[in-house]
Amino acid sequence: MNISKSEQLFSRAQSSIPGGVNSPVRAFKSVGGNPIFLKSAKGAYLYDVDGNRYIDYINSWGPMILGHAFEPVVEAIQKKAADSTSFGAPTELEVEMAELVKSFVPNVDLIRMVSSGTEACMSALRLARGFTGRNKFIKFEGCYHGHADSFLVKAGSGMATFNIQTVPGVTGGVSNDTLTCGYNDLEAVQQLFAENKGEIAAIIIEPVAGNMGCILPQPGYLEGLRRICTEEGALLIFDEVMTGFRLAPGGAQERLKVDADIVTYGKVIGAGMPVGAFGARKEIMQHIAPLGSVYQAGTLSGNPLAMIAGYTLMKHLKENPRIYTDLEEKSAYLEAGLQRVLEAAGTPFVINHLGSMISIHFSDHPVKDFATAASANNALFNKFFHAMLNRGVYLPPSAYETWFLSAALSQEDLDTTITAAEESLREIL
Ligand SMILES: *Cc1c(COP(=O)(O)O)cnc(C)c1O
Repeated sequence: MNISKSEQLFSRAQSSIPGGVNSPVRAFKSVGGNPIFLKSAKGAYLYDVDGNRYIDYINSWGPMILGHAFEPVVEAIQKKAADSTSFGAPTELEVEMAELVKSFVPNVDLIRMVSSGTEACMSALRLARGFTGRNKFIKFEGCYHGHADSFLVKAGSGMATFNIQTVPGVTGGVSNDTLTCGYNDLEAVQQLFAENKGEIAAIIIEPVAGNMGCILPQPGYLEGLRRICTEEGALLIFDEVMTGFRLAPGGAQERLKVDADIVTYGKVIGAGMPVGAFGARKEIMQHIAPLGSVYQAGTLSGNPLAMIAGYTLMKHLKENPRIYTDLEEKSAYLEAGLQRVLEAAGTPFVINHLGSMISIHFSDHPVKDFATAASANNALFNKFFHAMLNRGVYLPPSAYETWFLSAALSQEDLDTTITAAEESLREIL
């Protein structure tokens, strides 16, 4: 049997990169098999080193909302690179970027650029602690806020995929300040506040969760968190690293009509370059250095390549709001098609979907938090993943990840996906 180039590269990679990958979920460990090495991508398609083409539902875990290698972004990066890739000193482009982000999000007065979603969330938490003078915070089981120490408690995404409970290297002193409870359980939040009176700085949440599959907030839930935070003098942090500029131009805040105190961004904001950001009203943000004493810094923060990529994409989104209706229509079409073939296949399933985030759980009960996501038939999902991959459809390699649609998907791509799902179900059931 021929050994594919992907297989060759994967065995070579394992001698010099931990597990052969630079981020765990890429390893295909939970779905089984070996990861595919990619060579290029254009629009809705990925091309691997063996010349296979795939319809992409990962889209770099969100950033590629308009598809891969979007020409205005590629050109802007090429042009900007000639002016140097970093200065470590202020540029006009950073001002333009901050103004552009603010034009999407009315409750952000000041915004700081960083280089990843992880950095954005850990800085937002530090800011909330500095602002309130309190140490503890609440996060929800199955939510992922990057790999900073404080957040690696009952985190979703790769931690859920690999069933990692506690992380060696994260000290008890740190994780003791991380309070957790189930997503969509308002009473549990109330109880945590009652048990930790005056000690909780913030609640951080994915307003639509994407790191345990796609999980929607139930009606009234985010409003309830908003009310509790206001009553208790804690800050509400929306981690919009996935949802920002995706669920609506103004992200989940706009889409779900709930205002957070601090918002974090990543993914779409960088158009595939390493960018994150956190922002808030002036009274909160003025605690950040050099205005205040909550220290936060970055050598490459706001560097010209990252900024021009994000700026060009975001400007395009701003000027073409039709993209959001288009994404909405495509996602609804995909959902209806998947619904049809899943019903015909006769296996229990749940489709969770909002905007261009969607996921399937092979479950006979509603999936509304981590426990219900974990008790679905995820072994069946793993088979489904491979059957889809064999048919040229690249889904996230874990039941604990949302799928992301891009506007580059054509009607034909969606039909191909639905047919692939129909055939895959026939094969695996
Ligand atoms: C991806 C993600 C992060 C972390 O972002 P990185 O850029 O990978 O550090 C944080 N929060 C959420 C909700 C994410 O999906």
